[in-house]
Amino acid sequence: MILKHVFENGSEVTLEQILSNKEWRVNKQNNLMNRFPEASLISIKMNIPGAMKQSPAILAMFQRGLKTLESMYAQNKVEEVVYFDRETGPEAFIVVSQSLHDAKINGIRFEQTDSLGRIFDVDVMAAVDDGQQLSRTELGFDVRKCFVCGEDAKVCARTQQHSKTEMTAALDNIYQTFLVNQGAVIDDNADD
Ligand SMILES: [Zn+2]
Repeated sequence: MILKHVFENGSEVTLEQILSNKEWRVNKQNNLMNRFPEASLISIKMNIPGAMKQSPAILAMFQRGLKTLESMYAQNKVEEVVYFDRETGPEAFIVVSQSLHDAKINGIRFEQTDSLGRIFDVDVMAAVDDGQQLSRTELGFDVRKCFVCGEDAKVCARTQQHSKTEMTAALDNIYQTFLVNQGAVIDDNADD
């Protein structure tokens, strides 16, 4: 049976879990940057607002996005890919022999052009920072777009532009498009 909604069979997390996971992530990132001081590190997670961070739909979309990112970075030497199914949501790290600048451009390109890009967070870092903290606009890209309305995502987040219902509907929409792209047939009349 195909689940039609993003949060179906999902589980909620607490703020404490999110905060301690943030610590876990920073540790992982530091370990990887220590092991690969010359490489760029891509830190990948979902960008899902609210307390529900984990569900079969979220996992399925993450895996598809990760696959796409892996193939984007595969043009360079990928040193390592690690994936974690955290209770706070799926996460992955890709270590790639590519300059920070180019690795960043790949990450933004994914967020910007992939059909799932707006619900992903792709952070790119390196042990040896070239000192250029280049923003999206400085790299020639638009500001990050809100997955609900397509306007500046930062503004929407700051002003709490969208209700929970609105955001859930937008996420369901993205998820259902994803399912159709995967070849699934969604029966609108089916009872959940
Ligand atoms: Zn918006």
